[in-house]
Amino acid sequence: MKLPQWSATRSAMWIAAACAALSLAGCTRYAEDPSGGIDAAQLAAAAADPANWLTYGRDYAEQRFSPLDQIDAGNVDGLGLAWFADLDTARGQEGTPLVIDGKIYITTAWSKVKAYDAASGAPLWQYDPKVPGETGPKACCDVVNRGLAAWGDKLYLGTLDGRLVALDRATGKQAWSVVTVDQAQSYTITGAPRVIDGKVIIGNSGAEFGVRGYVTAYDAESGKQLWRFYTVPGAPEEAADEPAYLKKARATWNGEFWKLGGGGTVWDAMAYDPELDLLYIGVGNGSPWNQAYRSPGGGDNLYLSSIVAIRPETGEYVWHYQETPGETWDFTATQHIILAELEIGGTMRKVLMQAPKNGFFYVLDRATGELISAKNYVPQNWTSGIDMTTGRPIVRPEARFDLTGQPFVGSPGAGGGHSWHPMAFNPAEGLVYIPAIEAAFPYFPEAGWKPDPNRGMNTGIDLSAGSMPADAAVRAGAAAATKGALIAWDPVTQTERWRVPYPGPWNGGVLATGGGLVFQGNGMGNLVAYTARDGKELWRFAAQTGIIAPPITYSVAGEQYVAVLAGWGGVWPLSPGGILSEQAGPMPNVSRLLVFKLGGSAKLPPAPPLNRRPLDPPPFRGTAAQVASGGYDFGRYCSQCHNDAAMGSTVLPDLRRSAALESESGWRAIVHDGALKDNGMVGFAPSLSRARVEAVRQYVIKRANEDKALENARPAQARAGTGKPARRTLS
Ligand code: CA
Repeated sequence: MKLPQWSATRSAMWIAAACAALSLAGCTRYAEDPSGGIDAAQLAAAAADPANWLTYGRDYAEQRFSPLDQIDAGNVDGLGLAWFADLDTARGQEGTPLVIDGKIYITTAWSKVKAYDAASGAPLWQYDPKVPGETGPKACCDVVNRGLAAWGDKLYLGTLDGRLVALDRATGKQAWSVVTVDQAQSYTITGAPRVIDGKVIIGNSGAEFGVRGYVTAYDAESGKQLWRFYTVPGAPEEAADEPAYLKKARATWNGEFWKLGGGGTVWDAMAYDPELDLLYIGVGNGSPWNQAYRSPGGGDNLYLSSIVAIRPETGEYVWHYQETPGETWDFTATQHIILAELEIGGTMRKVLMQAPKNGFFYVLDRATGELISAKNYVPQNWTSGIDMTTGRPIVRPEARFDLTGQPFVGSPGAGGGHSWHPMAFNPAEGLVYIPAIEAAFPYFPEAGWKPDPNRGMNTGIDLSAGSMPADAAVRAGAAAATKGALIAWDPVTQTERWRVPYPGPWNGGVLATGGGLVFQGNGMGNLVAYTARDGKELWRFAAQTGIIAPPITYSVAGEQYVAVLAGWGGVWPLSPGGILSEQAGPMPNVSRLLVFKLGGSAKLPPAPPLNRRPLDPPPFRGTAAQVASGGYDFGRYCSQCHNDAAMGSTVLPDLRRSAALESESGWRAIVHDGALKDNGMVGFAPSLSRARVEAVRQYVIKRANEDKALENARPAQARAGTGKPARRTLS
């Protein structure tokens, strides 16, 4: 069916019609006040409102499918840049914009918010929550933000330092702000809030550092806390008063887990079924990762790595499905949740779909939590399959490094078979588009691990032990084995329909449209349009930077637009980013909002040069003991931002090239004393003594000299990274 051109008026009519069809209580309210604020009926009918993009996943089902069809396979080659806006942060941009009545609202790195006229790009207002720079190292995976929620005349933002902020949508002025976490702990917020019937639901992050996960509901008007749902039990003294679902969970834990936080943060996925009145949350990994330390003697550790259904009015537990019992691999179940109606075995089923980190694509009955099917969508070696009788993975004994005490190279690894990057679902094709990752991770259980309450990764895994060595062949092999793909997955048959392979694992979220198109940005710096049916590339735009955020689409005055945030960053470029540079050359961060339309003729300015200092370290004069100590500490305290084995980043300073290597005192002023803390580089006292900080310097000097020798040994034409940014294409 060819859908008509959309206009705001037509959208309002469709909303009213959809409301009537769904018999929703809020419809009358909307019909009486079509120009007013966002209400329950409008959000429930968001799928039938293609001019706007009202909530994070476009609708409560989070399908990220827009019926807009003005841009289609026949004319997408005429898609051009309508306008763009330069951003004032040069870190990973992961946000999904909202579009409401011709205005577009974005969040950027460091939790900033900006509003523009969605057709012309004229800036309207901006809001900076002024997150302290020293919050940065509390974030495992860059200082990113994924988006806003809308309700009434307000927008809602979670800030990196743990605030939930309400903004006046017309002016960007702060209406209220509440602190939703204990800011003394390593909590952060990167995910988008959702609003259900006047309640703002917000989760948080921090399970790499030792926190306890939960989601909280606040009154959208006043900011008053309404309920809090913990995903893991707390201290024993809380047991007497805790609800039944937490008592049930407590029986699945051992040891003094509450002293380590337990984990289970709800840092990204949520979805809502208005008819069943169920809120679905995806629960994260254990804290620490290594279950031998977290819950000695094992146990399922509910509700880690689970989908949990909650009554949004009260925060009451309804059902759960645990994808990875006894989680020990950083296998979060926080990945994108999509709700859909699928015909399975001749019956229409209300399903919930997820492709979590553990590599399996799950289809659940979303009324009951019953497992309908599960199949791996990327290669995996941690199970011999899923037992469909119990719904549990059949875990291979060697995968349990926590029990064997032996290293295990797992696929997927801690990066997952799929991370936060949103998928999309095209109902006409019956396909889910997965931005997939194929990468192994070396799990080296750390003997004698002790938690550090101040700084650093608290995983119980030695993050330096599996680091990329200074061996060209080994490095090339690891880079070749680390890749990505856009996979079109049939959730009914649990089979792959088609795929677009990528040389790197870190690519963008996905948008599907009624024009038969799938849009995705990638780690080589392109935004690409593919055919929904067979993945044929039809169009691409060179964005001068890696794109990880998902595109959206909307219309203004009958004209369809496609928008995406560009800006390289997130966990892969910061942490195992050396592999990415070996694959595709160094990728700069050029952070922008890019907006396209048919016939758009705007041009980007020339790509800025990638300014990198030469790789010219001082000679190594340290000791083997310093390299061992410094290597361990680098893995635990530095590698989350400055890369595995100090292999360098194009987003944050490449320490191999740092002038601070030159002197012990200069290095100490920064790394120990915190001279640059306002920039996000905190001091690591008291976690690291002066001697240990100096050992880190010696380790980095040694690594820099190794890599300089490697670079000198390479043919000149193969030396990427000392000049212009590499211009790798897909082919
Ligand atoms: Ca994690």
